[in-house]
Amino acid sequence: MHLLDVIFPKRCVGCGRVGKYFCLQCIFLIKPIGQHETICPVCAKPSMGGFTHRMCKARFSMDGLTSFFHYRGVVQKAVKSMKYRFVSDLAKEFVGLIPSFCVSQFVNHNSYFLIPIPLHPSRERFRGFNQAEVLGTLLAQRFSIPMQNNLLKRMRETTSQVEVKDREKRLKNMDGVFALQPNFDKSMLKHKFVNGKEMRIFLFDDVWTTGATMRSAANVLKRAGARFVWGVTIAR
Ligand SMILES: [Zn+2]
Ligand SMILES: [Zn+2]
Repeated sequence: MHLLDVIFPKRCVGCGRVGKYFCLQCIFLIKPIGQHETICPVCAKPSMGGFTHRMCKARFSMDGLTSFFHYRGVVQKAVKSMKYRFVSDLAKEFVGLIPSFCVSQFVNHNSYFLIPIPLHPSRERFRGFNQAEVLGTLLAQRFSIPMQNNLLKRMRETTSQVEVKDREKRLKNMDGVFALQPNFDKSMLKHKFVNGKEMRIFLFDDVWTTGATMRSAANVLKRAGARFVWGVTIAR
């Protein structure tokens, strides 16, 4: 047993029981998002399979969205406790809870790579880590998806979208938030096939709230030539 485990024993983020970060009782309470609960990432209304509605689709919009769990209870507590301090075992247990069929159904048919939503460098320095990158890395490792974490760059931080009530202001708030790394070879985004499979991008974040951040990042990738961008979040 590690010395730190004696001093600070692992406690369940849901109920505080000593042992693991997710005890069996709390895991049992976690509600995965069902197939009939998926939404369109543009209008946030129900959409079969999480595909963007045909009528919602614009030139640079996202192609769809998959979120694994409802953002409440144990899942919400886990996301929040990860915001304040980085605990790698917690992140590992968390990603381990994702039902594998949710990811493998995509990955088997196409060639994906995963891009975590970046934080602004100053905020990352302050916090010491980027939660989306930590969880995204674990997800990518678990499902053998290549990851690309230096392509997208965050130019500035944003006011929390939940606080920006007005739709117009919300759009403005996301203006120019993301850009591609200037030295990045854009032709990579334009490839249609990799090893005979269609190339697609998973844009990854921990939580989907209004979706403004992810739509804005997807827009930048699409403008640069990406053909297919699918949002993936742990919770919604
Ligand atoms: Zn528990
Ligand atoms: Zn829609």
